[in-house]
Amino acid sequence: MHACPTAAVAFAARVDTNRVLTGTTLEMPFGQSPFAIGRGVAFEALLRRHGHAELRRVLTEGLGVDFSQAGIENLREGYQPNTTGLKLRASVTRSRMAEIIASPAEPVVLDGAVLRADVGGLPAFFEADEMAIGVGGEIVVGENKSWPVVDGRPTDEDALGSALDQAATYVLLGRRTLDDAGVDPDRVSSNAVLVTPRNTGLTAVLHRQNVDGRVRRIERLLSAVPHVADIATSVPADVTFDVAADTSLPEQERVDAFAEVSDRLGRVYEPASCLSSCGFAWACRQCAFATGDPALSGGVVARALPGVVSLSRVAELSHGAPASAVEAPVAGPLARAGRLYDEAVPVPAPRRRRPA
Ligand code: SF4
Repeated sequence: MHACPTAAVAFAARVDTNRVLTGTTLEMPFGQSPFAIGRGVAFEALLRRHGHAELRRVLTEGLGVDFSQAGIENLREGYQPNTTGLKLRASVTRSRMAEIIASPAEPVVLDGAVLRADVGGLPAFFEADEMAIGVGGEIVVGENKSWPVVDGRPTDEDALGSALDQAATYVLLGRRTLDDAGVDPDRVSSNAVLVTPRNTGLTAVLHRQNVDGRVRRIERLLSAVPHVADIATSVPADVTFDVAADTSLPEQERVDAFAEVSDRLGRVYEPASCLSSCGFAWACRQCAFATGDPALSGGVVARALPGVVSLSRVAELSHGAPASAVEAPVAGPLARAGRLYDEAVPVPAPRRRRPA
């Protein structure tokens, strides 16, 4: 979750970001690559087959509590796939969470729990994988991710950060849900669970991580989301996604219209979170390519380069170009990195021409 003006305006205007660029080459295939979807579906199926046998095993091993006889309630089935269904699931989640706290004897798993939040004055629903795992009167938030952890390390640090942010969001909303139900919110554990494949196979392994810092950051972000009414009055009347969404227009005209609108509103492109959560991600990635935005290299790299506007400028600074005042803090480290790179990867000598 991060503060992106374009996404905020789309949210406030109830624009479905998955539909605006329908029919163009920048339409997102449900937010992930087909490979990621295939692996994700296979991993989820593995955890749930034979009465959630693999999920029970990994929770038992990872949490040190016997989940072999745990009650697992599947909240993904039996509800309409729309707002009415989400409201019902959120209501069931709330009452089940209170029950888990009240009767701590048996471990319980709510598969596909739904948490409700107020975002900018509008209701929003968040679906968690194993939120909530009830253990001894405490609720542990769990998320399944299909990317591998090899030798104890995730293959994609940005994806890990995004998953922990997601878990922290559920911790925060879970606490608010308990609070609303008159139950001590601190019964939601600060230690979230991630279930991922071990190495390159699909055997599940559990990781626990404290997400308190992320909970505080997400709480700040949520409270900073401007109110929908304020956004509506602050956006110029001629800013519209209508041209980008007009399927009767040529693709280039629609894509250009999206770029112009998002340029005016502003983008905060972060590959891991944008590609997994926003229907504009491919379009914003194309805009980022056009300007050589350092964000293309991932959030970790972009945060290490404050004030540097493009990757070509990174290259210039790494070759010792004079830095502006805003670039000064990173210019020295970049120049040192450039020298090290040149020592490690010498420029090939020009080929001699053979004598005729
Ligand atoms: S993809 Fe990212 S940068 Fe683009 S609108 Fe969505 S949140 Fe903002």
